[in-house]
Amino acid sequence: MTVRALLIGCGEPAIHAETESFAESLGVEHLERVLMPGGCWWLAEAASATSGRFRRALLGEHVPVRDALVRFIAHSRIERVVLLAHEGCDWYRHQHPGATEGARLKIAGEDIFTARDELRHIDNSGVQIEGRVYVRSGSHAGWRDLF
Ligand SMILES: [Zn+2]
Repeated sequence: MTVRALLIGCGEPAIHAETESFAESLGVEHLERVLMPGGCWWLAEAASATSGRFRRALLGEHVPVRDALVRFIAHSRIERVVLLAHEGCDWYRHQHPGATEGARLKIAGEDIFTARDELRHIDNSGVQIEGRVYVRSGSHAGWRDLF
């Protein structure tokens, strides 16, 4: 059986090679990629916008991204979604200028969990969702499993 999978990650050039080699390592025949600066940040932001007090005011900017992804997952018969984040992300540096690199990586990791919950909240059709984060520092740079 052919599995159709969707990879959602950061589109910055700095992580392009790592993302592509990771995508190849999945060994999935039909792999779609949605790569944009910040990656899962958009889904996490959409989640906070829909649960916050100022829902109406905040929905405009982020919900189209979320809704487009959900429609895409439903209409493309995606069975597996892989959510990615990476250390040293310029998008997160821009969003959290006062935070340390470690703190920003932690926030990006939390956003992956939020993005997963957001996808499950909207599309409850049993799509398998995985989360990975690319860590540069330490003795072994590479992708780490979050879930
Ligand atoms: Zn990035």
